[in-house]
Amino acid sequence: MASNGISKQTATTNAVCPNCGTLLTSLLKSGRCGCPECYRVFGDYLSPILLKRGGRHCGRVPLAVKREEYQNKVRVLEQKIAAAYAAGNTLLVERYSQQLRSLKEDV
Ligand SMILES: [Zn+2]
Repeated sequence: MASNGISKQTATTNAVCPNCGTLLTSLLKSGRCGCPECYRVFGDYLSPILLKRGGRHCGRVPLAVKREEYQNKVRVLEQKIAAAYAAGNTLLVERYSQQLRSLKEDV
């Protein structure tokens, strides 16, 4: 992985984390994740940063914080699922359910 690959990716990407709203471009600039979801969303782009910075900004979250964020995320997803279900949007229900499942598998 070339060290200059990051700026190229910045120019071609508009990704944004749906959870915390962090833009990929700003994340690449600051090297900081807004939330754990950023790992998932920006995983492909993060690896050069993590390699470069040794994961200092993104990689080492204290376990207690991680657990709290995890519980928050589960709660948010469950609310989203309930809202999507109430709206009759089965596609969204499915999507959030999948996110919830992969979230739980992660821990
Ligand atoms: Zn995020």
